[in-house]
Amino acid sequence: MVLISVGVVISGMLSLSLIKTNYEESVKESLIENAKLVKHFVETNGPIGSMEVWLSDFDSDTEIRVTFIDAFGVVLLDSSADASSLENHGRRPEVLRAYAGDIGVDKRFSTSVKSELYYVAIPVNHDVVKVIRLSIPLNDLTRYLDKMVVNIIIAAVIGVFLATLLGLRFIKMFTKPLGDLTHATMKISKGDYGQQVHVQSNDEIGQLANSFNKMSLELNDRIHQLRESNSTNQAILTSMLNGVIAVDEAMKIMFINKAAQRMFHLVEKDYIGLDIKKAFENHILGSLFSKDFNIYDQLDREIETKDPHRVYKVHSNIIRDQSDETIPLGLLMSFSDITQMRQLENMRKDFVANVSHELKTPLTSIQGFIETLKEGAAEDKVIRDKFIDIIEIEAGRLKDLIDDILVLSDIEKSTIAHTVTSVDLKEVVHEISGMLSQIASKKSINLNFDIDDHLKPLKANKVWIKQMLVNLMDNGIKYTPENGSVNLIIHQKTKGIKIIVEDNGIGIEEKHLDRLFERFYRVDKGRSKKEGGTGLGLAIVKHIVLALKGEIRVVSEVDRGTAFYIELPE
Ligand code: ADP
Repeated sequence: MVLISVGVVISGMLSLSLIKTNYEESVKESLIENAKLVKHFVETNGPIGSMEVWLSDFDSDTEIRVTFIDAFGVVLLDSSADASSLENHGRRPEVLRAYAGDIGVDKRFSTSVKSELYYVAIPVNHDVVKVIRLSIPLNDLTRYLDKMVVNIIIAAVIGVFLATLLGLRFIKMFTKPLGDLTHATMKISKGDYGQQVHVQSNDEIGQLANSFNKMSLELNDRIHQLRESNSTNQAILTSMLNGVIAVDEAMKIMFINKAAQRMFHLVEKDYIGLDIKKAFENHILGSLFSKDFNIYDQLDREIETKDPHRVYKVHSNIIRDQSDETIPLGLLMSFSDITQMRQLENMRKDFVANVSHELKTPLTSIQGFIETLKEGAAEDKVIRDKFIDIIEIEAGRLKDLIDDILVLSDIEKSTIAHTVTSVDLKEVVHEISGMLSQIASKKSINLNFDIDDHLKPLKANKVWIKQMLVNLMDNGIKYTPENGSVNLIIHQKTKGIKIIVEDNGIGIEEKHLDRLFERFYRVDKGRSKKEGGTGLGLAIVKHIVLALKGEIRVVSEVDRGTAFYIELPE
């Protein structure tokens, strides 16, 4: 716009000045020609008086003003003013030149006519008149030039208007696609991938837009793929039961999965980016990472936590660049909870030790009595019979023990899939009552059975149910002094069966109740052995109840009695 305005103004000014110069030149030429004619007229006409009339006529016909001046500058005649009223013209520049014999030319503002005038003065060869001066007002020229200025201004305004219109169109053509590109780029930078811009031109901007669109789609695809694989990896790591901690090649923590956070009471965001040695300086995990621990230190260790007590196996592996296996990217540590495995191992060890011990005692006793018999005790019939009785009891104890161990291992083996039949509890009670009454009667113990008449058949393993009831009833009889009583109550509940085995025997101190169902746990070892107990009875009961998805609890008071409550689902 500025350029166009300046162009129009400059060319207008130049045109104006050219027009002005041309116009003035032609005015000058015509004034000179006219002056020459008047000169000829004056020189050939003689006395001045005869020219006065001609001059007044001349004035009315034309705009040109004619002035006759004598040798001293005095105005002799003037076509538009009274000569006598005019001041001396002798010092006017054009007149001075005419006196010098040349054609004088001047242009100035006339105060008498109130307009700019063009003057031409030529020397005359006459008696009185020495200079003829012609002048013409330049009003026409001023008007013409004023008009020209107005036209130039109009042309400039139209030009600027058109230039603005076209300019805006052009600016829009260039800036719109660039604006679209900027907008799309900003959106991408904010994470809104896959932006497209629509540019139809085939110029550089069009090519740029096409390349941008391709790049944007490509970026979108890549980000999508990355996100997918990232969220899959994240989901795998999060849902893993094993704890996972990863560090980069600079030993900075990259992530701690949910399981590891839970295991070691960590909040992942507090540790990300920290040096693993510093981060776990005062932590149980610190024991894994010594001062000079580095990425190539592969771990294969165990750590134990307190509160709750757990044992974790720690493994680590170097994470390597897929494209170049020699480049280590970091270290992945996995933590697996082996507490249960350790507990089972310990339980098994204890069990083996206990079993060996339990077997050893009767065997040593049997061996001792046999040797004594061999050494001559067999000679004495009374002693021999007594020893043989003891050997028989010890052998029976061994058999009971082995039987119980076999039952226990049988239940443990078939916890998942055991033979389930429809068990009629009344029938089971009937089957065991004879044998139990026999044992009870030896101690004059009252056995009471309170069985619901309308018991629904129980879906269970009949042998186990029998074993469970026998063990509990037998314990009741064993640990109840003479004349006591043992009750078996079986009630139908809405969602299963409730079994209560209660006695009014010696009872159990509260401190023993927690461990009562452990294998070989006895409150009073001597008494249990005297009663022929193996220490496995309640362990068997508990395993059966758990295998049948039931619950068992015990309530007991010393010298008042003990009650076992069992609930079995239908
Ligand atoms: P045991 O073969 O020694 O009886 P159990 O596993 O059956 O082994 O019982 C574990 C221990 O629990 C017994 O040694 C005994 O001290 C105690 N106990 C079991 N039942 C009773 C009961 N009804 N009254 C008192 N103590 C009992």
